[in-house]
Amino acid sequence: MDELDAPLSSRLPRGKGNSKKANPAKFLSEGLGLETVRDLLWHLPRRYADRGTLTPIRDLVEGENATILAQVVKYGEPQRMRAKDGVRLVVTLGDGRDTLTMTFFAKFAGQFAHQKADLVPGALVLASGKVSKFQDVWQLSHPDYETLEDPEDGVDAVNRPIPLYPASKAAPNWLVRQSVAQLLDGLEGQLPEFLPAEVVAGADLLDPLAALRAVHAPRDEAELEAGRHRLRYEEAFVLQTALALRRASTARQRAVARTASPDGIAAAFDQRLPFPLTGSQRAVGEEIAADLARPHPMQRLLQGDVGSGKTLVALRAMLTVVDGGGQAALLAPTEVLAAQHLRSITAMLGDLAGAGTFGAHERATKVVLLTGSMGAPARRAALLAAASGEAGIVIGTHALLQEHVQFADLGFVVVDEQHRFGVEQRDALRAKGNGIPHLLVMTATPIPRTVAMTLFGDLETSVLTELPPGRADVQTVVVPQDRPAWIDRTWQRIAEEAALGRQSYVVCARIDTDDEGGEDGTPPEDGPGEEPAPDDALFEEPRPRGGKPGRPKPRPAAAVSQVVEVVRTHPATAGLRTEVLHGRLPPAEKDDVMSRFAAGEVDVVVATTVVEVGVDVPNASVMVVVDADRFGISQLHQLRGRIGRGGLPGTCLLLSGASEGSPAGQRLAALARTRDGFELARLDLEQRREGDVLGAAQSGERSSLQLLGVLRDAELVAHARAAAVTLVAADPDLSAHRPLAAAVAARVSGDTEAFLERA
Ligand code: ADP
Ligand code: MG
Repeated sequence: MDELDAPLSSRLPRGKGNSKKANPAKFLSEGLGLETVRDLLWHLPRRYADRGTLTPIRDLVEGENATILAQVVKYGEPQRMRAKDGVRLVVTLGDGRDTLTMTFFAKFAGQFAHQKADLVPGALVLASGKVSKFQDVWQLSHPDYETLEDPEDGVDAVNRPIPLYPASKAAPNWLVRQSVAQLLDGLEGQLPEFLPAEVVAGADLLDPLAALRAVHAPRDEAELEAGRHRLRYEEAFVLQTALALRRASTARQRAVARTASPDGIAAAFDQRLPFPLTGSQRAVGEEIAADLARPHPMQRLLQGDVGSGKTLVALRAMLTVVDGGGQAALLAPTEVLAAQHLRSITAMLGDLAGAGTFGAHERATKVVLLTGSMGAPARRAALLAAASGEAGIVIGTHALLQEHVQFADLGFVVVDEQHRFGVEQRDALRAKGNGIPHLLVMTATPIPRTVAMTLFGDLETSVLTELPPGRADVQTVVVPQDRPAWIDRTWQRIAEEAALGRQSYVVCARIDTDDEGGEDGTPPEDGPGEEPAPDDALFEEPRPRGGKPGRPKPRPAAAVSQVVEVVRTHPATAGLRTEVLHGRLPPAEKDDVMSRFAAGEVDVVVATTVVEVGVDVPNASVMVVVDADRFGISQLHQLRGRIGRGGLPGTCLLLSGASEGSPAGQRLAALARTRDGFELARLDLEQRREGDVLGAAQSGERSSLQLLGVLRDAELVAHARAAAVTLVAADPDLSAHRPLAAAVAARVSGDTEAFLERA
């Protein structure tokens, strides 16, 4: 480790002077926070300029710090200034079409000797500075430049991509470029290969130093690509090795094997199912049963689109564990969902859930709910049922993670809607087991395979590939929010469905007019819309005054409190039974609204995204999303998944203030086009920046998967994963691969853990 790390961890040597040339390290530190050799080596170019293509000047953005590739058009002789002492030099650059000026100041004309030598007409320069425009003339203020006619570049220089680094005024592009070049020269033989030889050969990788050279100072496109390939592969391979080690170490741990007995509760339940299992419910059920029957903990991710019937799969597995003498815990992300799980699971089980009560089935178990907001007596009873082993199934929220919650024999943990739980929380619950409990993580967010491999690489994956038969059609329509007639039609649709005995959801982005947005005050997934929505009179609200002219504040999202008033007073819907549901209601009230909605006693719920996941009321047939342009694709897909469940055709109305061509408009159009969750997930990933997908920090530091794009690098990730699995199988503690072990350890102790945590 040390031997590998020493040259990289050492600080960049400081020079004596106070100029960029004499003391680059000082400026790299102050300007970009780069302190060590590693920092600088991994300060990778953001993009590359191509000598054949000058930067289009008219595309520059005022006020931005830009580095542009341009040609000197005119070197104006220095002029003495009238108002002040000193001289001014104006040099004009061009892209062949537009021009831009750089202005320099000095005491005497003689101080421009460098500029005079460098900036001869025709010379190619990389110039950086802040872009401004004065009386229609583009300018670069505080300009800094480097000329590109380095004699050492020779003739082949034309093909050389020019690296453009994240830079600053204190540490401009040329300084980074020169410093990196110098550093790379001195590193010959100092960056030993840490990937196994067979991996290097198998993926055709450059060695580490060559790869860094190729990325920082490529001779041509092909070399640049080879360098990037190595760095990406290295990143994927180290991460996949960490994940393979994690899997292997859990696989060595002991768990109690659990199997169903022919006359047990699981068999009794299967016999009374009112419908046949789908093919994939059956297949996944077998995979899970096989895992549970092993004396090692299952670690499985169950993916299935909205409505694919994951709960049933989980319940059958829980009953298998109960048969095997253990208890199962089902962890839900919200109280609403936990309470609903309790309702639907006890309903499905019927007298199989009645242990201890008169007339219960002889194989019956007990199902209890444990949430943070329960009253003390109910809570005590639930805690006791869990600790005594009387409860075979314990359903709860985060409250289940608290220390004083004890189980007699916790054999199985199911986590519903994984994306709300971190690795640490999973581990906390698993630590409550007698030995390590089996784990099933369920997610309704369809994740492309390679993304799953990266984010959940420590889990095996099962997928429900089909929906239960008889799923009705859901028609999705984007409704322009500024068209009163369309909005009227929306409320009429709700009334028409209510007349047929059906129910509707109306979802808003925030609870109250004084919230920032979303449940708990956080804005919905995508944050506020990226464009100001047009004014409309639908949900009137005083507009904040005094904002800067020309920068309209985005119209605030409509709140539950406003929309419920509209629904209660609109002629079409005034007579309907309408209730509100959001995270700030007291838990008992939330539960009451949900229960009455489930029982058909409420026609319309006006809610926040609390109804986003898992809520299952088959009689609901309309989903209206107000300000749909503020929500992300997967959230809208989840919301729409609440309807079309009971064989009733559904209608999903997405009220939007976004124009059709905008990113939000495109998202909504995609939702109207397809209900395929995987297709939508792919689109979602394409629209977002990769950094957002992975939640990686956007700082200048080397962030997780900096180079790796989970979609773009799908094949590479799969390849690296296979190679890592092979390696770990052959050398489970990496004792024959010490340098790799060091790289993995560095990664795991640093950003990888944090990164997995965010997953
Ligand atoms: P999700 O995967 O979104 O959590 P659920 O588990 O809530 O889906 O199931 C959606 C609905 O489909 C539920 O009402 C459930 O009872 C029903 N369901 C599950 N499996 C089947 C099946 N094999 N045939 C018919 N209906 C099913
Ligand atoms: Mg569910």
